[in-house]
Amino acid sequence: MAAQHPNKDLYTYDIIVIGAGHAGCEAAAAAARLGSRTLLLTMDMQKMAAMSCNPAVGGVAKGQIVREIDALGGRMGVITDRSTIQFRMLNRSKGAAMWSPRAQCDKELFSRLWRKELENENNLYIWQDAATDLVVDTEGGKPRVKGVKTRMGVEFRAEAIILTAGTFLTGLMHCGEQSAEGGRAADAASKGITESLVALGFEAGRMKTGTPARIDARSIDFSVMEEQAGDAEPSKFSFSVDTQAVKEQKPCYLVYTSVEVHDHLRTGFDRSPLFNGTIHGIGPRYCPSIEDKLRTFAEKEQHQLFLEPEGWDTNEYYINGFSSSLPQEIQLAALRKIRGLEGVHIYRPGYAIEYDYFPPTQLRHSLETKLVENLYFAGQVNGTTGYEEAAAQGLMAGINAHRKLQGSEPIVLKRDEAYIGVLIDDLVTKGVDEPYRMFTSRAEYRILLRQDNADLRLTPLGHEIGLVTEKNWANFVEKKSLVESLISFAHDHSVRISEIESVSKSKNLEAPTQGKKLYALIARNEFSFAELIEALPRVKKFIEANNITAEVIEQAEIQIKYRGYIEREKLLAEKLHRLENITIPEGFDFMQMNALTIEARQKLTKIRPQTIGQASRIPGVSPADINVLLIKFGR
Ligand SMILES: Cc1cc2nc3c(=O)[nH]c(=O)nc-3n(C[C@H](O)[C@H](O)[C@H](O)COP(=O)(O)OP(=O)(O)OC[C@H]3O[C@@H](n4cnc5c(N)ncnc54)[C@H](O)[C@@H]3O)c2cc1C
Repeated sequence: MAAQHPNKDLYTYDIIVIGAGHAGCEAAAAAARLGSRTLLLTMDMQKMAAMSCNPAVGGVAKGQIVREIDALGGRMGVITDRSTIQFRMLNRSKGAAMWSPRAQCDKELFSRLWRKELENENNLYIWQDAATDLVVDTEGGKPRVKGVKTRMGVEFRAEAIILTAGTFLTGLMHCGEQSAEGGRAADAASKGITESLVALGFEAGRMKTGTPARIDARSIDFSVMEEQAGDAEPSKFSFSVDTQAVKEQKPCYLVYTSVEVHDHLRTGFDRSPLFNGTIHGIGPRYCPSIEDKLRTFAEKEQHQLFLEPEGWDTNEYYINGFSSSLPQEIQLAALRKIRGLEGVHIYRPGYAIEYDYFPPTQLRHSLETKLVENLYFAGQVNGTTGYEEAAAQGLMAGINAHRKLQGSEPIVLKRDEAYIGVLIDDLVTKGVDEPYRMFTSRAEYRILLRQDNADLRLTPLGHEIGLVTEKNWANFVEKKSLVESLISFAHDHSVRISEIESVSKSKNLEAPTQGKKLYALIARNEFSFAELIEALPRVKKFIEANNITAEVIEQAEIQIKYRGYIEREKLLAEKLHRLENITIPEGFDFMQMNALTIEARQKLTKIRPQTIGQASRIPGVSPADINVLLIKFGR
């Protein structure tokens, strides 16, 4: 029988992706699905898309990113749905712009499903090895990447390379006085790549992050803990019909630290690598270790901890909120002072890790480096933290590397189009001074960038790029048309006073004095669309006759209830587009513009913005400087 997927040349590819973390997996899947012959070169095939820290995907703002990845045709949402063990829509009590999906996952299953996906991808080949050096053509003109050398002495050639080495570059782990080289617990560090890039002129820096201890369920007394169940009616991440919401769920548990726990942790502070000067890398302010929390909030007598299961078939639990690099015996003794954990067994202690990253102002919006042609960076190497942020960058780097080789323009998402647009624009325009994670507050257009409408915003683009399958596209077109017809039905459908008397009464509302359009009733906060459907048989009949799903009803309701806000943000975004549309020629010499402040000239020269809009977001460039640029380039 003929081989199904022969490899005609082991050593030559269109694109090589270095690293199979969350960024690398999305990058490789996208590049290969678009048609580039792709090699995924990774240190350990058993650990593809490994969850180095918490076994969960999504959360506030991160959940929106995963929905966007899915809408564009990326895979993180589908794989999350297939490995979910608990699902919650966070912030349900707030406005729709704040709703954020989050799933606890079976982390081994998540990793296994990614590997299966990649192993079965056409055009994709996997090689297990460590990249140690980049091959770059520096002869004549701009340096251009040509290939990769590996620890096993193999040299691969490619037109483009995407570096997604995560926390592995010169990784150094710390637990109390113990330090060891490594990219993650039980993984070797990656050596050589940083040196190779610095020699080419790249700037590198050092960051740090940390993780808590993992514990054995058999040693936990869950009976004294508060159970945290998933949603009664769980939803899911992917818009596609290929996945379903989780049917059975596993609970998490809530426990608290105490003054006694804190006092014990403090006995180890003089041996803490965070406090005694051993760790030099900058850590995430918003994801502090327990020892950081005790220092910053010294007056607090307790902190919440969540015990999160790591999978269906494992006893391993993750202690969310207890990240630490204190000596392991201090961590263990402190944990044993927590109610329900008196006899706890730890599988492994928490630890901190320092690693190299490359300030992302060295990148274009396409994630290609400014210094070396066809070299792309994505994920933690760009100074971000989090699986979702990494996956989003990986997807965009995979798409853009493929498009560059095809001679197509890069895909650059705008700030009012996607959180992914905000993420990449922040990175390349402002840079990072600590590990960057996404927050809703980073987005100016939160009401436009909701999780529920990610498909409406991005699926047409994903289809045009070529990543959204025809089946998912047909599903999207049908959903969009049903939403439109439901809204138009609501516009046209009159409701008589007698029809809404009972629902008004049940809510202690004064009954309306005249009939109303259904649209006007849905727009009122007092009524939910679901209640109105139940109360109005003619509406229910329309819903049933047209097979309108709960998802379509929810979308129509959000569009009706938030219409005023949505229109306002759209107007604001359009105004700002004017600045985004005024381009600055590539290679323009800002230093000769004496009307700019010196700081602005230096910052503009470093970042090299492509539009006045981008220039206006660079820290240190003032409105007065923007006026000078507008006179030069604008109208
Ligand atoms: C200890 C620890 C704690 C963390 N804590 C948090 C946290 O609290 N919150 C949070 O949001 N995130 C945390 N993270 C970060 C999270 O794991 C990353 O944000 C995310 O995994 C980044 O994805 P990535 O794809 O960029 O890199 P990674 O997931 O790190 O994947 C990198 C991949 O590259 C491969 N690789 C590296 N170098 C080479 C090479 N030279 N050749 C071939 N392959 C290579 C590795 O084997 C791996 O497969 C933590 C990570 C660690 C290690």
